[in-house]
Amino acid sequence: MPVRAVSEFDLINHYFKSFACKRTDVLLGIGDDCALLQPPAGKQLAMTADTLVAGVHFPVNTSAFDIGYKSLAVNLSDLAAMGAEPAWAILAITLPAADESWLQEFMRGFSVLADEYGVQLIGGDTTSGPLSITVQLTGFVTSSQVLRRDTAKPGDKIYVSGTLGDAALGLKKVLGQLVTKNSLVHCVSRLNRPVPRVALGRELSAISQCGIDISDGLVADLGHIANASGCAANIYLSKLPLSDELRNFYGNDVDWSVIVAGGDDYELCFTLPSENELSIKVMADKCCMQMSCIGEIISGHGIHCFDAAGMEVVFENTGYNHFSNIK
Ligand code: ADP
Ligand code: MG
Repeated sequence: MPVRAVSEFDLINHYFKSFACKRTDVLLGIGDDCALLQPPAGKQLAMTADTLVAGVHFPVNTSAFDIGYKSLAVNLSDLAAMGAEPAWAILAITLPAADESWLQEFMRGFSVLADEYGVQLIGGDTTSGPLSITVQLTGFVTSSQVLRRDTAKPGDKIYVSGTLGDAALGLKKVLGQLVTKNSLVHCVSRLNRPVPRVALGRELSAISQCGIDISDGLVADLGHIANASGCAANIYLSKLPLSDELRNFYGNDVDWSVIVAGGDDYELCFTLPSENELSIKVMADKCCMQMSCIGEIISGHGIHCFDAAGMEVVFENTGYNHFSNIK
């Protein structure tokens, strides 16, 4: 008897529609032409979308679980960067083949994070072609309490959460670009399973008005804050937070371009007027997060990095850019 080929609709029914609906604000989920949603009274919707393309956003040998996890994590990070509460996800997926064990693992990775953050999958699209995943995520904010890019002011201090450069070093490891026996477990995990700083973003929106998530690299992303706010920034390399694993790997010869321009950090970079600086320690403890002051906003133009001797360091590449393809 011929084996019936798995159709687009079989995949939808089995892997997406079976996603249990856990949110009462989803009036109609997967299965009709659109989902019907009930936004909360008095809130605004924060919406974002990110695409992951095989070979561009992740090495082709990345596991299906990690791709599923990361496709939601990068979108959660965008909501975190606005101080938003995540709610509803749409998944547009293009698959080279109807590989069910791949899809099963992909959805397992996606669901782990969706459950952790209370995100409901409400719809999407399933097509065939080169592997590519687009997630659109919607969350809720109060417009008077959001982190934006255009609200930094000269005199503000610049902070980052967590540590920088781990994922970029992990990527070099995965791509076989490092001559080392060190498996760099922490850095590779930071590459494949970034932890979106959702709780931190929501807390921060009470004391800061300005923030971004670091996806393309610190200098590039802080550059977006500086441009949007019409000011400049000084960054001190010696103040940048580094993980023990990265520090041990580099010893005294840190490749600063990996730290400031490597990207995929998914940490939050935000600015604080000095009168709010005291609150940051309390918040760091509450969210169990390392928070580091790395520089200050000044008037002028551009991002200026200084080494421990006070000399300005100019980096050739400042972050990932799809069409000029620099990294
Ligand atoms: P239409 O042709 O009307 O756009 P589809 O046949 O593409 O509808 O999809 C049927 C239902 O399955 C829709 O509710 C759609 O949102 C959902 N869906 C399709 N692909 C996915 C996916 N990858 N993830 C979640 N839901 C999906
Ligand atoms: Mg469709």
